[in-house]
Parts: sequence; C-alpha cells; structure tokens
Amino acid sequence: MRILLLGKNGQLGWELQRSLAPLGELVALDRHGTDGLSGPLAGDLADLDGLAATVRAVRPQIIVNAAAYTAVDKAESEPDLARCINADAPAVLAREAATSGALLVHYSTDYVFDGRGEQPWREGDATGPLSVYGQTKLAGEQAIGQSAAQHLVLRTSWVYAARGGNFVKTMLRLAQERERLTVINDQWGAPTGADLIADVTAHALRQWRARPECGGTYHLAAAGVTTWFEYAKYALAQAQQAHTAVPLKAKEVLPMATKDYPTPAKRPHNSRLDTRKLQSTFGLRLPPWQDGVRRMMAEIL
Ligand code: NDP
Repeated sequence: MRILLLGKNGQLGWELQRSLAPLGELVALDRHGTDGLSGPLAGDLADLDGLAATVRAVRPQIIVNAAAYTAVDKAESEPDLARCINADAPAVLAREAATSGALLVHYSTDYVFDGRGEQPWREGDATGPLSVYGQTKLAGEQAIGQSAAQHLVLRTSWVYAARGGNFVKTMLRLAQERERLTVINDQWGAPTGADLIADVTAHALRQWRARPECGGTYHLAAAGVTTWFEYAKYALAQAQQAHTAVPLKAKEVLPMATKDYPTPAKRPHNSRLDTRKLQSTFGLRLPPWQDGVRRMMAEIL
C-alpha cells in the first residue's frame, strides 16, 4: 500500500511520518516537494495543478493531508491564501481521491464551531466559525464531504508537539522572564498531542482497511477539559517538580478574560469535543490530556 503524506514537517506531519511508516510505502512531502521516480513532486498546497499532478504521479491508496494554513490571527489579513490552502487544496485532493479510489485523511478543528454553551460539540452539531481560519477549515471539510471521495476527517483541538514551538514552551519562557503571567481562563478545551493524533490515525487506517464503511467525520481530542490558564499552571507545576527543575521567576499566574486580550481572530469559548463516536467506532480509549502534556514536558525539559 502506498501512502502520500502532505505537510510532513508540521507538528502532526512529523508524528505521522513515524506512525504511518509501518503501514506501507510512505511518500512524504513538505511544501518544497521532492524528486520522485518519474520527475519532481509538488508538495505546495498553493499550487493546485501541481498538487493534482503529484497525486496522479504517486498513485497512492491513501492520501493524508497534514498541511494547513494554521496562523489563526494572520489568516484574518490573508484570507485568500488561507482559503486556497485550507479549502481549495483539500477540494483538489478530494477530487483526485474520488477519481483514483484513494482514501483521503484530513484534519480539521474545533474552530469550525462558534463556541457557545458548555456542552462538548458532536460531529453533527451546527457549525458557525468565528474566524477566517475556522471558515476556511470548514470549507475544506465541506468540499471533502460533498465529493465522492472516501474520507476520514478528524477534527481536533489545541494541538501541541515536543518539536517546534508550543504553548507550554512559551509559558516556560515567559515564566523565566517575568514576575507575573496572565493567561486566558474562559476558553475551554483539551490540549491534544500530535503523537496521539498520529497514532489514532494509524489505528483508524488499519480498521478502515477491514471496514471501509467506517469513513466520515470524527472528533479526536484527549480526554478531559481545561482552560489555557489551568493548562499553564499545570505545566509550570510540572516544570518545578521536574528532575532538572526549571528556575521560574514568575511568582504569580493570574487568570484573564478573552475580552481583555484582543486578537485579530475571534476564538471560541467552548472548544470541548465529544469524542464518543471515534472511540466506539474504532475501539479506542483517549487518554487524559495531562498524560500527553507530561510526556511532552519530559522530552523538552
Ligand atoms: P502546523 O502549523 O504545525 O503544520 C502545518 C504544516 O502545513 C506546516 O508544516 C506548514 O509548512 C504546512 N504548510 C503550510 N502552508 C503550506 C503550503 N502552502 N503547502 C504545503 N504545506 C504547507 O500545524 P499542525 O500540525 O498543528 O496542524 C495539523 C492539522 O491540525 C491542521 O489541519 C490544523 O488545521 C489542525 N488543527 C491544528 C490545531 C493546532 O492547535 N495547531 C488545532 C486544531 C486543528 P511550513 O512549516 O513550511 O509553513
């Protein structure tokens, strides 16, 4: 089986390189592409013709799209580019997958919801993105859903990885520089490790091979719920208990409201995702968010 992975060097793409490797022959591309056996392969999602040509040249049975325009605030001033990468490119991948009979695996976000209420969002709930990023990610999902392609769309939330920058690293840095930190305490969600998403993807693919009817849209997030403020406090406490304790200057970590920290893009207050469909369909148990954060911190400290 041949798998085409796009966005191989993002948080998730990096972990997918590991988790997908045992499933078959993996052709993994970043935006710069690479030379394939029969010529150059384009990995740039802004090059829609090149992308289609790449799928035709590689002839994968599975396409995994981990590439996305993820700069949530910047998307407000670059809506056309965000739409191209998050919506038009997935539409091209879906078209090519439908033509060739490949399965398309794609990732989406809690930001497709408006964040009202306190209940975890279910897959069929009404969407209502608050930002350009959320709108373009929703358009990408819809293009895939309306195509004839077999697909798995996995909506996730608050993704982190040991590799690259992340929220915990930022909090650790600020806590070493400042006496006092203020962190948003009225956005609720579950920090989810890219390693967990990658492992669940590989597990779902194995199941899908035996049961192709299990395609569709699923919510995938670690168990439990927190706020950015509680998440920061948890991470800083872990850092202080660590084997190589980090000397923190911050004496106080204080909660703040979203309204007191204006950003170009609006973010949902309620990013809770109900993951029961994923867990029951694929026979999985999603671990508490703290487990993955502790693991990631053991790697970075
Ligand atoms: P990252 O930002 O870590 O990775 C995105 C990757 O996409 C980067 O490697 C980036 O490449 C690549 N990319 C951007 N533009 C292009 C392009 N034109 N052509 C090819 N590649 C491109 O994101 P994550 O790994 O965290 O996100 C994975 C998925 O999860 C995405 O679909 C995202 O929308 C979704 N998601 C992410 C969340 C998060 O908190 N990060 C939350 C919820 C969902 P380069 O490094 O060269 O820019």
